[in-house]
Amino acid sequence: MAQAEGAKHCVAYSSGSAATSAVIHLLEPSNNVIVSDDVYGGTQRYFRKIVNPHMNITFDFVDFSDEEGSLDAKLKEGKTKLLWLETPTNPTLKVSDIGASADLARKYGAYLAVDNTFCSPYLQNPLQLGAHIVIHSVTKYIGGHSDVVMGVVCTNSNDIFAKLKFIQNGIGAVPSPFDCFLAHRGLKTLHVRMEAASANALAIAMFLEKHRAAPVWSIPDLSHILSTSWP
Ligand SMILES: *Cc1c(COP(=O)(O)O)cnc(C)c1O
Repeated sequence: MAQAEGAKHCVAYSSGSAATSAVIHLLEPSNNVIVSDDVYGGTQRYFRKIVNPHMNITFDFVDFSDEEGSLDAKLKEGKTKLLWLETPTNPTLKVSDIGASADLARKYGAYLAVDNTFCSPYLQNPLQLGAHIVIHSVTKYIGGHSDVVMGVVCTNSNDIFAKLKFIQNGIGAVPSPFDCFLAHRGLKTLHVRMEAASANALAIAMFLEKHRAAPVWSIPDLSHILSTSWP
């Protein structure tokens, strides 16, 4: 997974949610986290109903795509230690700018974590765009067969890696050896499945664009993006 994400380090967990929880354990009470406003439902529930009341960590849910000015003001207060971006989001597929968020995080000494589950490492590598931490639910595209539940966190930082290893060992939410075997099997066909999924999505988008009920603002012609054509 480290190789797929172009990362120096990767730590594996028994689910994507356990990976999320490990990243939150890098924080301390009274820290603040700024989160994309429509992150995965399980992530919202964990942040709002468990971390906030039990760990006294506060969360601001914002639309990263149009609140850059207000983000700057918020980060200036100095309590924000983590920006949590999910792009594209599950399930509304909202896309935001990883590079701009990475610049903002660096300016104020916060970490940028990106949940990259929906693109998979095949289509997007947030560390190369400046993120400090990448999270994946391996349960989804990487596992690929709906028979494994797993999560990973990738980073280039030796310091974050050392802390995550300690947290992983202390909490014990590790994947089983057989799950690792299944995830490794899934990873071998990730590129084929992502090409097919992209081609299918494009075919649907092009069909809808020409549909008589399509809105007046039509989608740009994207057909040049695909290198492979699938039946
Ligand atoms: C599914 C999902 C998770 C949680 O992963 P599990 O492996 O189901 O715990 C986290 N983030 C996103 C974007 C997801 O789609």
